[in-house]
Amino acid sequence: MKILLSAAGIAAIAMSSGLSPASAGQEVNLYSYRQPFLIKPMLKGFTKKTGIKVNVVYAKKGMLERIKAEGENTPADAVLTTDVGRLSDMVDAGVLASVKSDVLNKNIPAQYRHPDGLWFAQTTRARILFTSKERVKPGEVTSYEDLADPRLKGRICIRSGKHLYNISLIASMIAHKGQAAAEKWLTGVKNNLARRPQGNDRAQARAVYEGVCDIGLANTYYMGKMQTNEKKPVQKKWAAALNIVFPNQADRGTHVNISGAAVLKHAKHKANAIKLLEYLSENTAQKIYAKQNYEYPVKPGVPLSLLVESWGTFKSDSLNLAEISKHRAQAAKMVDRVGFDH
Ligand code: FE
Repeated sequence: MKILLSAAGIAAIAMSSGLSPASAGQEVNLYSYRQPFLIKPMLKGFTKKTGIKVNVVYAKKGMLERIKAEGENTPADAVLTTDVGRLSDMVDAGVLASVKSDVLNKNIPAQYRHPDGLWFAQTTRARILFTSKERVKPGEVTSYEDLADPRLKGRICIRSGKHLYNISLIASMIAHKGQAAAEKWLTGVKNNLARRPQGNDRAQARAVYEGVCDIGLANTYYMGKMQTNEKKPVQKKWAAALNIVFPNQADRGTHVNISGAAVLKHAKHKANAIKLLEYLSENTAQKIYAKQNYEYPVKPGVPLSLLVESWGTFKSDSLNLAEISKHRAQAAKMVDRVGFDH
């Protein structure tokens, strides 16, 4: 079952979803922004181990609007999504339950779970630099701060400053350096852009490959997706033209974002939902989940896929993502104020 949500389509979808709000059997109902190929293997393992059936509604947008519209009658017990921004929007909307779980607290480092147990990361992804093997020397660019240095004028490509991934990165700059310094930085980055922000993360890799710019910003897993892309083999060429730089290794570490899960306040199968989140945080699921999408397991010590391991180890920012998220609204305003996308 694959259902795309839109605000207008909520009623129709709710009726056709097949999720029954009041049933009390051994089941759990999930709304997922994560695609079937990513989560099906783990959900199967969960049902096999616990006997709890998982019903999933897959969505590409409109999840929070739907949950809000359904209110107390929502059939969903838990959500799976990417980006702390989406999880924070759910926190702000008051739709999440506070979960206390020793298993989750043990498996997931503190910076990757909400302080009140409102959400928990399952995988992580780093926001890294793709640098041209030909035109950027090792050590030439080593931090996000470098991106604002006038010596990089006309050499940087990036997607819209308003995209979730960049909003979180800018919010992390505000959290660490304060509003004024972050704004000076963002203005500096804008002044160094080779072109108006556009495209997705992979488009930045392509632009470096094609010589439009020398440095692009992207999430780590896109490197894996390009390196293994049999459907569009040209992407292997893009990837082969790039080095990966994990920024800020000499100080606070690289900015990392997450995929994560949360239990809903109005969940009808709350205990089962918590069991599912716990299962997803254990070794077996962690290994499969991270491997499927070239991400990093959130649980320390779980082996990486060989491809991801080949990119090298790195130090990540240890500031709690919930703390970083508090600055997202400021970050969005800052993007407008400096005219980043224009
Ligand atoms: Fe992505």
